[in-house]
Amino acid sequence: MALINYLTTIKFGFGEIAGIEADLASYGIKKPLIVADKGVVAIGLIAGVQKGSATLAAAPVFDATPTNPTEAAVLEALALYKQNDCDGLVAIGGGSPIDLAKGVALLATHDGPLETYAAILGGIPKVSASVAPVIAVPTTSGTGSEVGRAALITLNDGRKLGFISPYLIPKLAICDPELTLGLPGWLTAATGMDAVTHCIETYLSPRENPPAEAIALDGLKRAVAHIERATKDGSDREARKEMMMAALQGGLTFQKGLGAVHALSHPLGGLKEVSLHHGTLNAVLLPAVLRFNEPESKAKYAEIRKALGLATDADLAVWIADLTARLGMPKNLTEMKVPRGVVAAISEAAVKDHSTASNPRAATAADYAAMLEASF
Ligand SMILES: [Zn+2]
Repeated sequence: MALINYLTTIKFGFGEIAGIEADLASYGIKKPLIVADKGVVAIGLIAGVQKGSATLAAAPVFDATPTNPTEAAVLEALALYKQNDCDGLVAIGGGSPIDLAKGVALLATHDGPLETYAAILGGIPKVSASVAPVIAVPTTSGTGSEVGRAALITLNDGRKLGFISPYLIPKLAICDPELTLGLPGWLTAATGMDAVTHCIETYLSPRENPPAEAIALDGLKRAVAHIERATKDGSDREARKEMMMAALQGGLTFQKGLGAVHALSHPLGGLKEVSLHHGTLNAVLLPAVLRFNEPESKAKYAEIRKALGLATDADLAVWIADLTARLGMPKNLTEMKVPRGVVAAISEAAVKDHSTASNPRAATAADYAAMLEASF
């Protein structure tokens, strides 16, 4: 049995953002809340988008999205939403503002606490179609959250949990590569490696979904062919466009489930003592996870090597580590300043993470600890 669906509407291409006033009207949003972060506001992206839309120019802006979205920030944005009598959200930024907007859209129409709707706590069927409409405008190429069903939010007690429902998919994703031209090199590399990881993990997931696998392989090819170009020269329009498509494709395949890299990077991203970038974490963890999964994924590893034009005996883990080194990314968790003392707690949390279920090889806490140790 397979459950396959591609439900959302995507506008893709340079200049697509110019149509957002009409898009708001088509989705019946008259009083949107803009969700962003301080970074996109500082580089003038929000002001630029507001210039082309009278509705957005008059809209309140929540710009306090943290690097990893928190329940506290969701509640703060929700208060602003209610105070202004809003009827929808426009999330502009990377995965964090988009995930945060999904949390607000959920609690705008569903009674709290947020925890009630967490996937691992049985919350999926509690999310109804009444979720407020979200238009997602990604300004990075990596997260895929613009077309994804999930929001990752850290609760007040420190647990980083997944909120998953088809109703959390933004009603419209406006993917305009123009908005990524100013993205700094390190963030281009880090978010791009998130897209690479999405494509690899969903491809390897054992759930049956051949269309998703085809998209994942195509996204992986596009990403690895353009990530270095986009990182080195941010004004390379073709590379920017291809990276945005690869990120979108990674997001379209999410429904097949991610794997051990994300099972580890989710709790690591929830650490309070150090703020860790999701894509950078994935890039650093990917080689150890690829080594762990290889015995259960030999045929698929051969397909990945073929898709990437590598030798039939190429070591994928080494190849990924070499790619991230060329991108100038951190080589290990030590360079990222992850405290070694967290290994046991993160390994336990990874076993409980929703992505563990779709890793191709069953992983215990001891397996996760070994993957983490190999990544220091
Ligand atoms: Zn990710």
